[in-house]
Amino acid sequence: TGTGKFFVGGNWKCNGTTESIKKLVGELNDGKFEESVEVVVAPPFLYIGQVIGSLTDRIAVSAQNSWVGKGGAFTGEISADQLVDAGVKWVIQGHSERRHVIGESNETIGKKSAYALSKGLGVIACVGEKLEERESNRTTDVVFEQLQAYADAISDWSNVVIAYEPVWAIGTGKVASPEQAQEVHAAIRSWLGDKISPDLASATRIIYGGSVNGANCAELAKKEDIDGFLVGGASLKGPEFVTICNAVI
Ligand code: PEP
Repeated sequence: TGTGKFFVGGNWKCNGTTESIKKLVGELNDGKFEESVEVVVAPPFLYIGQVIGSLTDRIAVSAQNSWVGKGGAFTGEISADQLVDAGVKWVIQGHSERRHVIGESNETIGKKSAYALSKGLGVIACVGEKLEERESNRTTDVVFEQLQAYADAISDWSNVVIAYEPVWAIGTGKVASPEQAQEVHAAIRSWLGDKISPDLASATRIIYGGSVNGANCAELAKKEDIDGFLVGGASLKGPEFVTICNAVI
């Protein structure tokens, strides 16, 4: 198990309106969280100011993406510097939707992560295989290649949380079994031990994402190498998200 606190992130993706986010923030503000869980939510950029202005300090705010470097003539992008200025503490990088829908490469994801870390943001570094990759027994090859791309760009991993999110489980309702998730989490931890350092392997939180909900979180949380969750759909429902955060043991 990673030695840091259990970590749960809510990835709101491209969802919400001023009104629905006001309601969700109200539900989160009313939530009772176990002391030993670190809680983060990632609203769409447009609503980050609203969320930071209304959400309890108990929960930190993350962005869902950031630009590869300093700002300037990059229409439509948001820099890590601007996120820090706005009070954001974390950024998600390498989410499967950015890899496979938007087409970001391992190299771009590594650069974005390194720049965000250099500005003091924590990075939720996502990795995960597609269904056909799993079915052809290439899960760890794909995940290790994605990890290597982060390692090529990052030297200090102390503000990195790794999110293992099998693509076939994201937004599909097909959660990985606790055994399937544990197997990959353990492989990621040994990879960190071999390629970076044994200390880092034991310190790094490796969280699971892919159709986590209030009903399946407790069984997953029991697994030795599952140190938290990255939650999509269920993070839009305040009370259910609080239940998932409190799955910490
Ligand atoms: C995610 O987007 O990171 C995710 C895990 O989504 P969902 O929980 O909806 O599968």
